[in-house]
Amino acid sequence: MNTASGIAAKLQDITASMSDYNPNALTVQQAQDIMRAYVQPVCGIEKLTIRQALGRVLAADIISPINVPGHDNSAMDGYALRGEDVADGLELELKITGTAMAGAEFTGMVGYRQCVRIMTGALMPAACDTVIPQEFTTKISDDEIRISAGSLRAGDNRRLKGEDLAIGTVALHKGKILTPADLGLLASLGIPEVSVQRRLRVAIFSTGDELRSLGETLESGCVYDSNRYTLYGMLVRMGCEVLDMGVIQDNPDALEAAMRSACENADAIITSGGVSVGDADHTRQLMRRLGEVAFWTIAMRPGRPMAFGKVTSTGKAAYLFGLPGNPVALMVSFYFFARQALQQLGGAEIVPLPIFRVKSNANVRKRPGRTEYQRGILSIREDGELGVSITGSQGSGILRSMSEANCMIILDDEQGNITAGEKLSVLPFAGLI
Ligand code: AMP
Ligand code: MG
Repeated sequence: MNTASGIAAKLQDITASMSDYNPNALTVQQAQDIMRAYVQPVCGIEKLTIRQALGRVLAADIISPINVPGHDNSAMDGYALRGEDVADGLELELKITGTAMAGAEFTGMVGYRQCVRIMTGALMPAACDTVIPQEFTTKISDDEIRISAGSLRAGDNRRLKGEDLAIGTVALHKGKILTPADLGLLASLGIPEVSVQRRLRVAIFSTGDELRSLGETLESGCVYDSNRYTLYGMLVRMGCEVLDMGVIQDNPDALEAAMRSACENADAIITSGGVSVGDADHTRQLMRRLGEVAFWTIAMRPGRPMAFGKVTSTGKAAYLFGLPGNPVALMVSFYFFARQALQQLGGAEIVPLPIFRVKSNANVRKRPGRTEYQRGILSIREDGELGVSITGSQGSGILRSMSEANCMIILDDEQGNITAGEKLSVLPFAGLI
């Protein structure tokens, strides 16, 4: 099942190599594993200024061309001295022989029981390896200070050359999604431009005769198409270019035209609706006819039905994610399947999600044998520990449960009922950056 060689495996070969592959009862883990083995990164690199590169995927390792900092320097405002003078830990009086400012080096000598007034970031004078912060000294006269016994050890408060980034070492790895800290880090290395992977183009459309687009009248029995908006939001957050193809009526010709056009213009296609057992079969037939697509029922809630594979039109291929139509099921399937597959497709390194074990504030019913994704609100409890509560009704059509939540509660396959106070796994939606 390993495609590390870069040779694209056929979907069928991947599933055939799994001993317990059952498309009608696939575990979340199995579905994720199949996707990981199947998706091949797209090729295409562009050079951008570091500001433009925020959120983009680094296309090559960044090797540090310099040491940061370039020289040993002071971490404090205070006095630079020779570590050997304080080695005995006794009270000490020192003569001030000069000043070192940030950007203005002290080039003189520093001898026995002498020191140099130094500012944060100033280069360490040649003979000095230690800095005493100003607040730990007493001024005896204009050019003399006293250090009380045991207030510092040799080497204290000195920043070492290259301690942030050493010359010749990898400062940022290929595949890293660039954060604000990374932009600063690149700037600290004097690097104005970087190579990043090109943006993915993802085509989206919704299927269902009951769907109406914004601006249309809502007849009885119809609903506004919300999925294209949640998908748009999730894809834009991931840095994808979105090709919104609208609502496609449940009609074989319209579907085929949409699917072919999506194939020809995008790296991946995400559809919503039309893959449930109750849906008309022509969507499945079309997906099958245009490529290699597997139809799964996944042991999860919400989001059981899903289609995954690759479709081709006039020689152009695109990965296909046929997600369920229910709005929460759509989001859950996107986050736990499409998200990682798209990151892989876009050349990003896959970083494990930050999952925490926290106390449940109430009893939770859970049937073993499937993974459940409930929507939760994470907060600090009165006992000072993190706790999680479920956001109201967990129906797969209740989008409000997703909007009000600040985390996803992940209840694994084997997990049974949970009693209040027991711990469960949560994945916070938002972090600092
Ligand atoms: P389906 O997966 O097509 O069987 O749809 C399941 C449920 O989700 C139905 O109640 C649909 O009306 C609803 N639904 C499907 N697609 C969308 C959409 N794009 N926006 C909002 N609701 C949808
Ligand atoms: Mg439908």
